[in-house]
Amino acid sequence: MPTFSFEFFPPKTPKGERTLWEAIRRVEPLAPDFVSVTYGAGGSSRDRTVEVTRRIATDTTLRPVAHLTAVGHSVAELRHIIGQYADAGIHDVLALRGDPPGDPNGPWTAHPHGLTHAVELVELVRELGDFTIGVAAFPEMHPRSPDWESDIRHFVAKCEAGADYALTQMFFHVEDYLRLRDRVAAAGCDVPIIPEIMPATDVRQIRRFAELSHAAFPEDLAHHLEAARHDPAAGHRIGVAYATAMADRLLAEGAPGLHYITLNRSTAALDIHRDVLSTRSFRVR
Ligand code: FAD
Repeated sequence: MPTFSFEFFPPKTPKGERTLWEAIRRVEPLAPDFVSVTYGAGGSSRDRTVEVTRRIATDTTLRPVAHLTAVGHSVAELRHIIGQYADAGIHDVLALRGDPPGDPNGPWTAHPHGLTHAVELVELVRELGDFTIGVAAFPEMHPRSPDWESDIRHFVAKCEAGADYALTQMFFHVEDYLRLRDRVAAAGCDVPIIPEIMPATDVRQIRRFAELSHAAFPEDLAHHLEAARHDPAAGHRIGVAYATAMADRLLAEGAPGLHYITLNRSTAALDIHRDVLSTRSFRVR
């Protein structure tokens, strides 16, 4: 049975905190396989990731996955954060390299006592305890990879170092996911690659995200969303319909699950999930 899961981010304000918890409470009764919390670029947002993840573990029935990046951290600090998670009963980490703070496309510089690539963080988390470890996968190739051969080789190295599964970057063309999956399989790696589903309901917002993540945004979808620019309900319907069609096809092609980006507002993700459920059977707990 395919898994399903949701992604949240640590909010910056008390209002954002309330919105997040309303969204978490809405997904909780569905008993998703896990929910993940992203890790900020620095400072207080990182503490909030730890706090939100901890609170999900203690105050809800959900299984939290903590995103963790190597950006700006020494190995000693990373050990400390991983230890905090273990102490809070959290045994799921998404091990990421991260991007340079400020300009994500700028030159990458490792912390002088830190890590250079995600594979080293996978090794560190593995060494520190009994964790389920996820890693990132890129249906359109990581933007810094010089070619597919090296992209796949380094992805497989993360799996060989102990990753149990991968979550993808957002994408809008199913073929990109299938090509990545086939390339990884051809390299002899059978780690499940769970596609991330981004509800594209607001064209300006999604174009910005797509630019940041280097995801190609379909022109026909952009055109329909542009036409609905002043009608949020219509934008919502279009985004949900597109993502549902993608999710249906991904599952038909054998994707091992769906990871929904919520942007801390679960409405679109829940609508997509309901529509997908109406045609498929999920594991129900
Ligand atoms: P890596 O696996 O280290 O790969 C980065 C690049 O280095 C790739 O081109 C890879 O091929 C190459 N490479 C890897 N190993 C080697 C090696 N040994 N020698 C040479 N080259 C190598 N960012 C955040 O800040 N917070 C988050 O919460 C967050 N969540 C994410 C969730 C998902 C599902 C995804 C897909 C991305 C997320 N990101 C997040 C973004 C991520 O941190 C960036 O995309 C980052 O640029 C790559 O991270 P990685 O873990 O794939 O790095």
